[in-house]
Amino acid sequence: MRRVGVRVFILLSFILAACGGLPGGAAGSGQPNVVATFSVLGNMVQTVAGDNFKVHVLVGPDGDTHTYEPIAADGVALAQADLIFENGLGFETWLNKLYTASGSKAKRVVVTSGVTPGKIAIGSEAGATDPHAWQDVTYSMAMVAVIRDTLAAQDPAHAAAYQANAAAYLKQLQDLDTYIQQQSSSLPADRRRLVTNHDSLGYFAKRYGFTVIGDALGAVSTEASEPSAAEIARLIDEVKSSGVPAIFTENIENAAVINQVAQEAGVKVAPPLYTDALGQPGTPGETYLKMMRYNIDTIVTALK
Ligand code: ZN
Repeated sequence: MRRVGVRVFILLSFILAACGGLPGGAAGSGQPNVVATFSVLGNMVQTVAGDNFKVHVLVGPDGDTHTYEPIAADGVALAQADLIFENGLGFETWLNKLYTASGSKAKRVVVTSGVTPGKIAIGSEAGATDPHAWQDVTYSMAMVAVIRDTLAAQDPAHAAAYQANAAAYLKQLQDLDTYIQQQSSSLPADRRRLVTNHDSLGYFAKRYGFTVIGDALGAVSTEASEPSAAEIARLIDEVKSSGVPAIFTENIENAAVINQVAQEAGVKVAPPLYTDALGQPGTPGETYLKMMRYNIDTIVTALK
């Protein structure tokens, strides 16, 4: 936390220096300046926005929002923004300081306002709020509704377009939810067990009938310290006794601990899941729809 504070002071001076020369973004064009905090949310906002404007995303593909350290350009983006879409639920721990330091007057919109917050069940952060609500597609649908209504109110001239884009997207999300349910139910119940790098799949597990039996970091946030030898040994025992044939890494994370656990427990490491971020353009995780489809297909193949 101390480190972030120092950074924000540096940032503030950057912004004060920069503000004199800024053209004021898209002011006068009638299009809102919109920021989304991370890639998954940015993709949802952009899909509802369509061609009306380009969403500025702070933490991009393969980026780790838990441990993100803002750069000067992020402060400038907030200072120019009319709207900031954020996940909330404790995900963007760095955003309040960045927002204050930037002098932004943007309206902040927490898209998970309709989500019943999950709690972490296992590990050192048991009881903490789980931020990974987008892993339940029905919660993503609630987020899209918030995005649609916010954009329509902010930019009434294009409200009909936002409503049409959201309606088409909600239909695709409904189909995605059905697909994930069908695929997960193709696995025997005793195979629907997940071990991941950090505790990112709690909402996914609850919605789609899986049990999370352990995670390498023992934490919902990737900020946790490295696991001890005893914690790793316990996870190896859990994996062995569970009978699962494979465990999972994530696109945002170093896979060293998972690889060690898999080797010692005698199970496979599945291809990385897209958990807290989209993949790069051109990968199977380049959009939210694609990443969720890829994840369930990867899980089913690995656990069959
Ligand atoms: Zn996470």
